[in-house]
Amino acid sequence: MSNTVTVAPVLVLNQNYEPLNVCNVRRAIVLLGREKAELLVNGRGELHSPRQSFPAPSVIRLTYMVRRPLLQRRLSRRDVFVRDKYMCQYCGKESRTMTLDHVVPRFRDGGHAWDNVVAACIPCNHRKAGRTPKEAGMRLLHEPQAPRPNPYYLFQARSLQDEWLQFMPWMKRS
Ligand SMILES: [Zn+2]
Repeated sequence: MSNTVTVAPVLVLNQNYEPLNVCNVRRAIVLLGREKAELLVNGRGELHSPRQSFPAPSVIRLTYMVRRPLLQRRLSRRDVFVRDKYMCQYCGKESRTMTLDHVVPRFRDGGHAWDNVVAACIPCNHRKAGRTPKEAGMRLLHEPQAPRPNPYYLFQARSLQDEWLQFMPWMKRS
């Protein structure tokens, strides 16, 4: 099988058709072969191995329901940057090179939690240093908050295949 196709992304829907995650074609073929999933959209034609040919799926649906906690979201730098739209929460500058700022510094018992972390540009982070915004004479543009629980959050910063969008009505075509 060609490598570029086997690593192509496949949208995985839960049994109830809710988008669950993204895997690659190779993994999707394994799930289909074990009857753990059914093929919904074959976006990429056929894959051929010496003995068999397989549809190259673009969207599959699990044959069983995966329950997942929607509220327990890991807090990564990227999650914070996505929430803050890569905009410095002090000066409003947008950049792909953001730093993570703890509003109340960690060494002063500020938590590593949604309501205490923001995206900050490098100059603002340096200026603020180990101080609170008030001490540094700086103001947050928005009070940081945990994003609303959103089962579709996973897809917000991904590039989506056209044929996925019928399963993701909340996503706007850009
Ligand atoms: Zn800034």
